[in-house]
Amino acid sequence: MLHTCNPADYIPAERLAESATCPDCGASAQLAIGVIHLGHYDAHGEVECGLIWTCSHTCFLQWEHKTFMGSA
Ligand SMILES: [Zn+2]
Repeated sequence: MLHTCNPADYIPAERLAESATCPDCGASAQLAIGVIHLGHYDAHGEVECGLIWTCSHTCFLQWEHKTFMGSA
């Protein structure tokens, strides 16, 4: 399966200039300069997945649910 982490491939062009708060580091950055990955998160004890925007690949890897990072 091909995968892209380019926000422009997921977010409408007119919204790319908007800023968002990174869920990992808390920094505010333009949607266009971040990355989007399929992430996993704890939803009331159940692991769910979805497309997650973060300001960098490093932040995504730190944010990702620990059971998917080989450290659970
Ligand atoms: Zn970040």
